[in-house]
Amino acid sequence: MAGEPILIVEDNPSNLKLVKILLTVEGYEIQTATNAEEAIELLKTFRPRLILMDLQLPGMDGLELTRKLKSDPKFHKVIIIALTAYAMKRDEEKASAAGCDGYITKPIDVGAFPSEIVKYLKKNKVGPLR
Ligand code: MN
Repeated sequence: MAGEPILIVEDNPSNLKLVKILLTVEGYEIQTATNAEEAIELLKTFRPRLILMDLQLPGMDGLELTRKLKSDPKFHKVIIIALTAYAMKRDEEKASAAGCDGYITKPIDVGAFPSEIVKYLKKNKVGPLR
């Protein structure tokens, strides 16, 4: 799993920093974006296997960006994991409906986070959330 490219899309600086550090120490190749437009620009040259997608973003939100990517043949196989503010059922449903392959709730559980990512990377196929 080490070295796998991951894109983090998150507008909250402390969350972005935390997630970036947690994944960098695991050896992943990390790129970050703080909004959808920046992510789209990065994706012209960076091909992540997994995207961590904050749902609440300024401008185009994470749900819209997920729908956009999942409807694009170039990106529909990229694993997209929503970062949701709370374990809100509505958020989980919305993430799933938009095409997210799973979700991780914030605040990030530092101990569990790395293995969650490994679990999602090991999944070859897009499946239901549960
Ligand atoms: Mn946000």
